[in-house]
Amino acid sequence: MPAARVWGRLLGVNAAVVESVEFDEDGQVLVAAVRVRRRDRDRCGVCSRRCPRYDPGRGRRRWRALDLGTVQAFVEADASRVRCREHGVVVSAVPWARHGTGHTRAFDDTVAWLATATSRSTVRQLMRIAWPTVGSIITRVRADIDARVDRLAGLRRIGIDEISYKKNHRYLTVVVDHDTGRLVWAAAGNDKPTLAAFFELLGADRCARITHVSADAAAWIARTVEQYCPDAIRCADPFHVVKWATDALDQVRRQTWNTARRQPGGSHKDRRGRTASAGPAQGMKRARWALWKNPENLTDHQRHKLAWIAKTDPRLYRAYLLKEGLRHVFAVGGQTGKEALRRWLSWAVRCRIPEFVKLSRTIRSELSAIHASLDHGLSNALIESTNTKIRLLTRLAFGFKHPNALISLALLALGGYRPELPDRTHT
Ligand SMILES: [Zn+2]
Repeated sequence: MPAARVWGRLLGVNAAVVESVEFDEDGQVLVAAVRVRRRDRDRCGVCSRRCPRYDPGRGRRRWRALDLGTVQAFVEADASRVRCREHGVVVSAVPWARHGTGHTRAFDDTVAWLATATSRSTVRQLMRIAWPTVGSIITRVRADIDARVDRLAGLRRIGIDEISYKKNHRYLTVVVDHDTGRLVWAAAGNDKPTLAAFFELLGADRCARITHVSADAAAWIARTVEQYCPDAIRCADPFHVVKWATDALDQVRRQTWNTARRQPGGSHKDRRGRTASAGPAQGMKRARWALWKNPENLTDHQRHKLAWIAKTDPRLYRAYLLKEGLRHVFAVGGQTGKEALRRWLSWAVRCRIPEFVKLSRTIRSELSAIHASLDHGLSNALIESTNTKIRLLTRLAFGFKHPNALISLALLALGGYRPELPDRTHT
């Protein structure tokens, strides 16, 4: 095989002609001078249509390619401009990179794959790029996938949710497919116009095929769904109902902790003079995770902690059992779940814990929506895991200036169409 073809394959520029490969002046990075083949020449960077050449543009341009071993590599070529009938004067297309970018397609795809698979610092250090650059790369990789696939095809049962992604009450509205567990759509904002944009995109025909919509109790969601899918059954999102119980439990835990702290021996000053919990109060503070986690995921230590709570604080333990009881309702679902919910309600209303008495009233007011979700077997595990994953991603996405990057990351990771590593078709 001629050396030029070997280099072409190594650099991910198969479709071009490699003219020379050299280290740059400092001897630090490898630069491959390449030229576009005749059949790929003078095409519009946006639509790839063949167009008349306009001018030589701004001369030579460089694209960052994947490292070769430990050495950074760049592809260099002329970047002439063409005049497209539709897009005007634009830089002509190159087969190895997306339009208007400074990285090769193989580099982009590798970054997108890594961003959905590993930590922020790993991507930055391994690929030697800044985090905002990762944001731009995943946004264009997602746009590429969106042009190929229809994320909204075949939707029947959907869940709508709002997720806070920054302080100061910035929210995303997200839509998941209950049947596949995929995230299918997301946009910045949490109001009627934001959600209406989703239904407009879906179109009247496909709106009519939506049979079930789950959501929390937000009025703007209910009103928008009513307008676009009047025949769909509204279900309570099990994730939110269980979260109400978790929140109530947390309020009870905090009261218990504050009371314990104020008792003699409940706190002491640490070396820096700050007040720290001691004795039972300290134990209670650390109980948070044991109370929150699902019992099947508890560590031995957390199990002991729960046993300790049961002994020392029956009221808090009762609150814990009430939370678990409600989770059980959705775990079993169907008629058994409805029966369990009926028993739960009569227990909660008499439990003498104001937070749970209040919760039982909220649940009564949402009863038909909750019954609908038990009847139609909306899996809480699925929604909960999608929710948890999106919330983890929002943390990863700090540092992205625009919510678009976060949305792209979420769609790439949870949308069912994962970015592919370059040149893997044969393995
Ligand atoms: Zn064009």
